[in-house]
Amino acid sequence: MTHEKALSRLAIVVPCFNEEEVLPETAQRLTALVQGMTANGLIAPDSQVVFVDDGSRDRTWEMIERLASGDPRVGGIKLSRNRGHQNALLAGLYTCEADVLLSVDADLQDDIRVIPEMLEAYARGAQVVYGVRNDRTSDGFFKRATAQGFYRLIRALGAESIYNHADFRLMSRRAVEALKSFREVNLFLRGMVPLIGFKSAIVYYTRSERFAGVSKYPMRKMIALALDAVTSFSVAPLRFITGIGFAVFLLSAAMGMWTLWVRLFTDRAVPGWTSTLLPIYLLGGIQILCIGVIGEYLGKVYQETKARPRYIIEKHV
Ligand code: UDP
Ligand code: MG
Repeated sequence: MTHEKALSRLAIVVPCFNEEEVLPETAQRLTALVQGMTANGLIAPDSQVVFVDDGSRDRTWEMIERLASGDPRVGGIKLSRNRGHQNALLAGLYTCEADVLLSVDADLQDDIRVIPEMLEAYARGAQVVYGVRNDRTSDGFFKRATAQGFYRLIRALGAESIYNHADFRLMSRRAVEALKSFREVNLFLRGMVPLIGFKSAIVYYTRSERFAGVSKYPMRKMIALALDAVTSFSVAPLRFITGIGFAVFLLSAAMGMWTLWVRLFTDRAVPGWTSTLLPIYLLGGIQILCIGVIGEYLGKVYQETKARPRYIIEKHV
C-alpha cells in the first residue's frame, strides 16, 4: 500500500425493491465489509453503502432510513416510484459522489467477498471490473436456461455484452462520467458499459442462492429486460423483415411466372384464376419488402434519436 496516494472513496450501490426480508442482513454484511476494507487501508474512511429504494411497497424505505441514521457508512436514495432495476441502479451511480462505484443486488447472490479483488483490479488501472459468475448451479433449471438463452440471443443479435455478467460491477468515476454521455432512456446497462471502452477486468465468483425473500424479477420483468436489450442494441429484427420481404418477393415472382405459364401454355387454368392469384403474390411480396425498407429507415431514426456518443476520449496528450 502506498500512502502518498489518497485512498479511493467507495460507494456500493444496492437497488432494493420490496427487500425488507433481506435488508438487515445485507446491510450488516456490506457495512462489515466496508469497515474491514477501511481498516485494511483499501478504501477511504468515508466510503458508503448506498441503498436505492425503487418505489418499494413494503417497509424497505423506513428500514433504509433507520440504518442510515444509525451508521454514517449507510446512505439511502428513494425513487419517486418503481422504475425498475436498471433505472434504480443508474440513479445510484449518478447520485453518489464516490471515486469508485460498485453495484450489487440486495439479495447478495453475488459473492461480495470478491470485492477486494475487484478493487485490486481497479488499482491496477481497470476502469470497469465485471463480476462474472462461473457457475449457475444455484439457479433453478428454468432461470438458468432462460438466462443463458438470453445471453446467447443478445450476442447473436450483435450487442456486445459479457457472458454471465449481470450487474455486479465496479466502475471508476471516469467510467461513470463517460456513461453519462449515453442519453438513451431504455436502459440495458450490461450492454452499454462495454461500449464505454477503457481498460476493463473480469473477476469470477460463484453465485449463491437468495438467502431470503423471493425474486423480484418475475417473468414479465425478465421479458421486458430482454426486449429492451434486443431493441436497444440491435436493428436486427427490422432487418429481418426486409429479409423476409425479399424472400417473399422472389417467391411471388416465381409464383407469378408459374400462374402465367399455366394460363398461357396449359388448359388447366380456371377463368379468373391468374388475375386473382398473380396480384395476391405480387402485392404480398412488395408490401413486406416495403415494410422492411421503412423499417430500415425507422432503425436509422431510432439510432439517431438515441444520440449516443460517437466516441469517448481515453487519453489526450
Ligand atoms: N429490483 C429493483 N427494482 C425492480 C426489481 C428488482 O430495484 O423493479 C432489484 C432487487 O431489489 C434486487 C435486484 O434488483 O436488488 C435484482 O433482483 P432479484 O434478485 O429479484 O433478481 P434475480 O436475482 O431473481 O434475477
Ligand atoms: Mg437475485
